[in-house]
Amino acid sequence: MPQAERREHILDGILQESIRETQKMKFAVKAWSKSGRARVGLLQLSSTSSSFAQGGPPAKEIEIETPALLLTTRKGLPAFISPDHLSSLPNPDSRLLQFSPMHFMEGPNSKTISAIGGVHQLLGLHEYGFVAVPRDSILSLPECNSSNKNGASFETPCGRFLVKPVEYMKMISSMKPDLWVSLADEVHASVTTKRNKASVDRTIKWLDDCISLKSTDGALFGSIVGGCSIEERQRCTQEVAKRNVSGFYIGGFGLGDSVDERATLLHAVTDLLPKEKPRHVCGLGLPEEVLQGIAAGIDLFDSTYIYHLTLGGFALVFPLDGKCKHVSDPGVSAMASDGTKINLKATIYRKDASRIVDGCICYTCQNHTKAYINHLLNVHEMLAHILLEIHNTHHYLSFFGVIREAITEGRFEELRQNFIEKRRDHLLAASLSACELETPVRA
Ligand SMILES: [Zn+2]
Repeated sequence: MPQAERREHILDGILQESIRETQKMKFAVKAWSKSGRARVGLLQLSSTSSSFAQGGPPAKEIEIETPALLLTTRKGLPAFISPDHLSSLPNPDSRLLQFSPMHFMEGPNSKTISAIGGVHQLLGLHEYGFVAVPRDSILSLPECNSSNKNGASFETPCGRFLVKPVEYMKMISSMKPDLWVSLADEVHASVTTKRNKASVDRTIKWLDDCISLKSTDGALFGSIVGGCSIEERQRCTQEVAKRNVSGFYIGGFGLGDSVDERATLLHAVTDLLPKEKPRHVCGLGLPEEVLQGIAAGIDLFDSTYIYHLTLGGFALVFPLDGKCKHVSDPGVSAMASDGTKINLKATIYRKDASRIVDGCICYTCQNHTKAYINHLLNVHEMLAHILLEIHNTHHYLSFFGVIREAITEGRFEELRQNFIEKRRDHLLAASLSACELETPVRA
């Protein structure tokens, strides 16, 4: 084939691939904050439900406003929420489910999942968007000391696995997620400069491998790493942005990095990314961290914050408008609340006949009291965690809704500032009262 014709053929292939990516997932920025970084966008997914031709349910269009929270799942479902309760969560905000392909390594193999028709068919959730992320902080942790140039190592309940790009792509192809993240070599913040540089080199190489092995319609998010080095973060971002990807996954946060350096590192990445593509981050979960990420231009978040809160018996109570005090009840001790959440295991709630949050429209607050959940926690009844996860997910998704509204109305910076100040005031007051309690009474 003559060189000019060959070049045209290659360019045509890239264009077709690009159109396919665009058709699978659409994203558009709708509004910017005053600072010009935080943004509200609309993410549209065409469900990969491929069983329509075989008499299954038709493909669905999923539209989600960003910034948005992906629900963390264990094998496709939130830890304590069953499919029937999933539909009671805010719609369409709760329609994006994150999962780690590594969770399925001990279960049905790729061939079986492929024969069933992918993760939508396996779980019977045809109207949800599935996002495959190799890292997961509940069951599948990156283990950078055992990773090598061939693949990334993960610590899982059924042992440590070294996952090579070819194996990862087999899993992705069989599961058919709507969005998927390329394999990354995520390292702890304390690694050497040499190891950090190697992680960037490997992550770019594995992205190229994933692109060349790709055989699924799902939209690809290219992984960006670089640890705590601004230069490495920028190098990785520039390389990944050159590739044909639908969006970006910013990894390596929540692995020993400090909150103080995070804003600079996030800006180093987002400043170099094309504005028209979505950005997804893992490892930022606390409300302050979410606000920090959104202020840097992040669109999608996945974290285990809700899961860990729920497991510990905590319920989110911070006011969503960011205006009033975090917890105004003077009877609530520092042990039972830190201003954003309350510990429902505390004895103070044993006879509390009120709802977790007055006016909350979630299933839990509509039907149950703090006293009942306190009782369920004390007798180790799993229903406690089910009710808490429903409320916590509902509350956090509503928080994202309030943030989107604030960006659209040009008051995001005000909301963020207000939230951080109230939180600081509360923590100061709590530490002062704790000091008073600890001061020995002189006889
Ligand atoms: Zn509630």
